[in-house]
Amino acid sequence: MCGIFGYTGSRQDAPEMIFKGLKGLEYRGYDSWGIAVKNGEKLAIERKVGKMTGGISLPKSNLGIGHTRWATHGGVTTENAHPHLDCAKEIAVLHNGIIENFQDLKSELLKKGHKFRSETDTEVVPHLIEDFVKKEGFVDSVKDAFNLLKGLNAIVVVDTKSSSIVAAKNGSPLVVGVGDNEYFIASDVVGILPYTRDVIFLKDNEMVSLGKTISLFSLPMGEKQNPVVEKISWNIEQAEKGKFDHFMIKEIFDQPTIIRNIAQNYSDQVEDLREVIDNAKGTFFIGAGTAYHACLAGVYLFSKIAKKHVNTAPASEFNYLEDFLTKESLIIALSQSGETIDVIEPLTRAAKKGSLIVSIVNSLGSTIYRMGNYKMLLGAGPEKAVASTKAYTAKLAILFMLSFAMVDKLSGARSLLLMAAEEIERILKKENLVTLKELAKKLSKKEHIYTIGRGVSFSLALEGALKIKEVSYVHTEGLAGGELKHGPIALIEKGTPCIVFAPKDDTYDAIISNAAEIKARGGIIVGVSSEKSPVFDYFIEVKDSNLTSIITQSVPIQVLAYYMALEKGYDPDKPRNLAKSVTVK
Ligand code: GLU
Repeated sequence: MCGIFGYTGSRQDAPEMIFKGLKGLEYRGYDSWGIAVKNGEKLAIERKVGKMTGGISLPKSNLGIGHTRWATHGGVTTENAHPHLDCAKEIAVLHNGIIENFQDLKSELLKKGHKFRSETDTEVVPHLIEDFVKKEGFVDSVKDAFNLLKGLNAIVVVDTKSSSIVAAKNGSPLVVGVGDNEYFIASDVVGILPYTRDVIFLKDNEMVSLGKTISLFSLPMGEKQNPVVEKISWNIEQAEKGKFDHFMIKEIFDQPTIIRNIAQNYSDQVEDLREVIDNAKGTFFIGAGTAYHACLAGVYLFSKIAKKHVNTAPASEFNYLEDFLTKESLIIALSQSGETIDVIEPLTRAAKKGSLIVSIVNSLGSTIYRMGNYKMLLGAGPEKAVASTKAYTAKLAILFMLSFAMVDKLSGARSLLLMAAEEIERILKKENLVTLKELAKKLSKKEHIYTIGRGVSFSLALEGALKIKEVSYVHTEGLAGGELKHGPIALIEKGTPCIVFAPKDDTYDAIISNAAEIKARGGIIVGVSSEKSPVFDYFIEVKDSNLTSIITQSVPIQVLAYYMALEKGYDPDKPRNLAKSVTVK
């Protein structure tokens, strides 16, 4: 889940470039950071705990690597920050993932006399390489060391002798940027965008050596491969905040454009997918976190619009539901990063059973994208705030199109989505933002909040609660309206806020009754609806446009969560303990 950025070429400002590159990737992991650059015959290193503020004091260099850490093994300390070095301080290693057998490797290395300076699993790698380079070249040493690691890992290595960066991966993302006689390496294509749009996505069990030229190898044996260069369509402006204070609010504002794009340009892709779903016996949507909530919405949309039953489970649970999969089963995996390990694992097993996989992801070239027998990109552009907003509504828009396509009603879906895009623009008007900010002020003082919805809005209740807790750390629980009286209503007391999703559909009367039950016990009702009900203490108006209310109604809650984070003085883009792309189990 860490951020990695490396450079080799003729520019002398590698330290600053790496610092900047890492800052752009901080959302991937950010408890500490470190940079190693080649300084003559030595390595110069800087490592710090906390966010990347200020600057760096490293010497000029044209070769180096940097890392933002999301600690798994060993506390958040300068000693545990990457890069980690061998005993002679000639080899520096960055690592993403967990080395499952690091204890065994470490005991062996300690027996051989290696001295460890950190508590990380990572530090075994430079020491292993140090042993191998005594008898073979640098590239082979990295290969042999990497082959000893168990688990899903990516490593990036520099040494003082060879003037190259060597990287290997199995499970964690790495992208190489190909410039003019220069190379970049990063854990996310976003890091490379400012320099080049020509990239090579490393596949699992591949290793690359970047020096004067590039060499690609397959692992474990090290056979040479031909690198395939792909062109990225994202542009750099999409990955910058522009006039906004934070990525989260910028990405919330991106949503109308993305939804319009899906409405106008996705018909053919959606039609193709329709056929795949029609031919499958048993379709499952899987995703993690916010993506799972999109899956759940998809189940309701398919039932309501396509009159078709599909199933869903959080991806991490799908591992235990897979026994009945067959060659005819279809798994539709939703993911922003395309690197979520909780999705990759069940997909790997499903693929072994011969089931078909459809990947709907935001990141071209990502692992989940590559795993798909059929692939679709969300087209949401880079999403940098940890809490997902635009990738979520893009997934909903695609599932919406798909469910309409199943019954030959694509044109209806397109016009409804265009109306939804317009409604989001209205919701994001200045005067509405002011009202939401006021409400956020009140809600941020609360200890517990509840969100309820019925039918397709149940998924919205779960997602709304997740958004609020992710960035404001206020405990928020999403519930199906009908479940309230089966337990949670015991928690309602005077002043407990409850956000009620009440689109004017077949759920309206029942959800308003649930709201009344809460109000009768002293709860404060925040109604999200097209119509103001007397039961609402606060009213967030969202005009209805058929089932697209799951898209439009999610937007004011995203904004509310954003303002609640600001109100409490938190950085909404980088919530504590969370990282954008969850590549560990
Ligand atoms: N397991 C390593 C550590 O705890 C790598 C963590 C990361 O991916 O940032 O240092």
